Amino acid sequence: MLVDQRVLVFLGPPGSGKGTQSAKLSQVLQIPAISTGEILRHECQSGSELGRTVHAVMTSGGLVSDDLMNQVVAPRLEQRDCEVGCILDGYPRTVSQARFLRDFLERLGMPQPTVLDFAVSAKEIVTRLSRRRQCVECGKIFSLGAGRDALRCALDGSALIPRADDHPRAIRARLNLYNRNARQLRGYYRRQDYHRIDAAQSPDRVLHDVLIALGGAGRYPVQKIAPALRATAAY
Ligand SMILES: [Zn+2]
Repeated sequence: MLVDQRVLVFLGPPGSGKGTQSAKLSQVLQIPAISTGEILRHECQSGSELGRTVHAVMTSGGLVSDDLMNQVVAPRLEQRDCEVGCILDGYPRTVSQARFLRDFLERLGMPQPTVLDFAVSAKEIVTRLSRRRQCVECGKIFSLGAGRDALRCALDGSALIPRADDHPRAIRARLNLYNRNARQLRGYYRRQDYHRIDAAQSPDRVLHDVLIALGGAGRYPVQKIAPALRATAAY
């Protein structure tokens, strides 16, 4: 089992569908998907000292510093379920975090990451994100697809509304911020085990390309992949 131990780093802008791919791949490879967004929220709710610091930064609208981010992610990597590897979604976000990750993995005796860079054009991202709607009651996010323009939450029937930060201008601002760090991160990882994935394709095609990049789809039989493919795609 440990022979296959693999640390995957997912790079990609908001709206690239990497969250969806992370969930699918986690099922196919049977390794945990670690979303830093989730860890940060969890840490905030726990009320720990670290959580209070994170909460203060986030509510002030500031960016979580490299140091704080490393402090939040490191203990998660040390947990038992990561012995088989893991998927990192949302970390590292800067070259400084990437260097910390390199050293930390080395200390844990884990392999250096395989990097999957989910590439989509800015135009496609604006289209995708402006189709998103959020439930006013439970907060779940839905995508208005062709012929599926129900304006009610599938879980509780409440109204769905566009998110304030999903307007084209706000999306472009988020993309610019992302691209600034991503360019440097790409430069850092490019000479390593790095794969660019065309994320403008359908989720199934994207997963297929990811599996090819990881060493051949043949290693992961269709029966194993099918349930993951059936899981709802939620861009
Ligand atoms: Zn709802």
